[in-house]
Amino acid sequence: MMIIMKPRSTQEQLDEVIVAVEASGLTPHVIVGVEHTVIGAVGDGYLVPTETFEFLDGVESVKRITQPYKLASRQFHPEDSVFPLDGFTVGAGEIAVIAGPCSVESRSQLLETAHAIREAGANALRGGVFKPRTSPYSFQGLGEKGLEYLVEAREQTGMPIVAEIMSEAQLDVMLRYVDVLQVGARNMQNFNLLRAIGKTRLPVLLKRGLSATIDELLMSAEYILAGGNERVMLCERGIRTFETTTRNTTDINAIPVLKSLTHLPVILDPSHSTGYFEFVTAIARAAVAAGADGLIVEVHPNPAEALSDGRQSLKPEKFAEMVSQVKEIARVMGRELAPIHVSAA
Ligand code: PEP
Ligand code: MN
Repeated sequence: MMIIMKPRSTQEQLDEVIVAVEASGLTPHVIVGVEHTVIGAVGDGYLVPTETFEFLDGVESVKRITQPYKLASRQFHPEDSVFPLDGFTVGAGEIAVIAGPCSVESRSQLLETAHAIREAGANALRGGVFKPRTSPYSFQGLGEKGLEYLVEAREQTGMPIVAEIMSEAQLDVMLRYVDVLQVGARNMQNFNLLRAIGKTRLPVLLKRGLSATIDELLMSAEYILAGGNERVMLCERGIRTFETTTRNTTDINAIPVLKSLTHLPVILDPSHSTGYFEFVTAIARAAVAAGADGLIVEVHPNPAEALSDGRQSLKPEKFAEMVSQVKEIARVMGRELAPIHVSAA
């Protein structure tokens, strides 16, 4: 439930409410808004009557949150979540561009890609090192060696690095290297992994499952938020439909729908959602027009030789073209691309 404090309530009154929330077996999450401070009391709230808090000093009202996700809902947190990543801000009206290869394949492939995407205006570098491949005989990723290459690319370009985590067992090594943890579509409902990530304070890019509904995506985000990790970005990456001409079907609806249901930033992945490089730029434009807060795009210097997802990877020059088109769409929408890292080499 949500406990809304009166505009001029005091710190002592807030502290008393927090004590009462904890005494009821609920966990308090305090949000200081422009006018009101709100305390989200999360847990088995249906067992606790609203009167427990209604008559405490400084409390204006108490409301039950009707959605199954609480901390992720706009009802609880009406203003957009805005949070800094290393060098740029997510969710503040600027569009973040994350790009890089599907998989880190070699030092030279990664460094070449990193310099090219930075030149084209990317804000962050992606690269998988633990790959969730459909076949166990496909390239599985370089593991820790790949993380070392990502760090070298970060040092050379100044861009923060994003890599996918597949299991709790990888958490320690990932925490030592990456700036943003990506949770892939196949792990969206790996609740133990989500809980473990919730205990960290690393920003998360949570991808929608192949057949997950929007509510299910939000409930997965809730697992992370409930652990106290507030920096979650949601990523629409296409869903499975009856259509087979593309790898997945981009659910463009998800962008405005998510923006209405949640305060969390929404990122679109036009690479996995189409599966073919020819369609990536068109869908990237559509995503920005629909209100996405960012894009995550696969780029490879030589897609024909890529060890994973070459068919959907843009060559660096096509990526640069995509960025300039997306910039135009952003301008029409009264937004702009996030500026690139100032301290980069
Ligand atoms: C990826 O980003 O390379 C990836 C595996 O994405 P998804 O989990 O969306 O399939
Ligand atoms: Mn991929």
